[in-house]
Amino acid sequence: MTQNATSAAQGCIFCAIVARESEASVVYEDETVVVFMDLNPVTPGHLLVVPREHAVGLDDLDQATSARVWEVGRDMARALRRSRMRCEGINVLVCDGEAAFQTVFHFHLHIVPRYVGDGWILMSEPPERERSLLDSDAHAIKEAIASTD
Ligand code: AMP
Ligand code: ZN
Repeated sequence: MTQNATSAAQGCIFCAIVARESEASVVYEDETVVVFMDLNPVTPGHLLVVPREHAVGLDDLDQATSARVWEVGRDMARALRRSRMRCEGINVLVCDGEAAFQTVFHFHLHIVPRYVGDGWILMSEPPERERSLLDSDAHAIKEAIASTD
């Protein structure tokens, strides 16, 4: 059994879609990714860019697959802009982990077309963070970058 067939059998809905065992409105596919319409679009035209290979989060994707997912995301954003959907803006969103609202644990990029007045609210207005805290956050991340293989 292929990895997708195994994961589909284990209940991964996106593996089932990639394996064409579950229904989807596909707009693009190649050897690395499949792009289809989100079943519960936050705005009309909301797309999901999904790697064929089953991977849960950003860190689980190999570099070539990750690069292709983002490249296709860019192409899809451009297609939306040029389509008769007439979108006026684009949000690109990744939910990586339960704390980040991930509900389908097969990595995907949301490409969300935006229309003036569409009503989708992303975030509150966070207060400015003290410089000393920003610097200490930056230090923690820089340490992790330096130790990443
Ligand atoms: P999240 O894991 O929070 O990034 O989002 C998962 C997304 O997958 C949601 O926007 C769902 O509407 C979408 N979704 C779940 N099942 C399907 C499906 N069968 N076909 C298309 N989209 C789906
Ligand atoms: Zn999967």
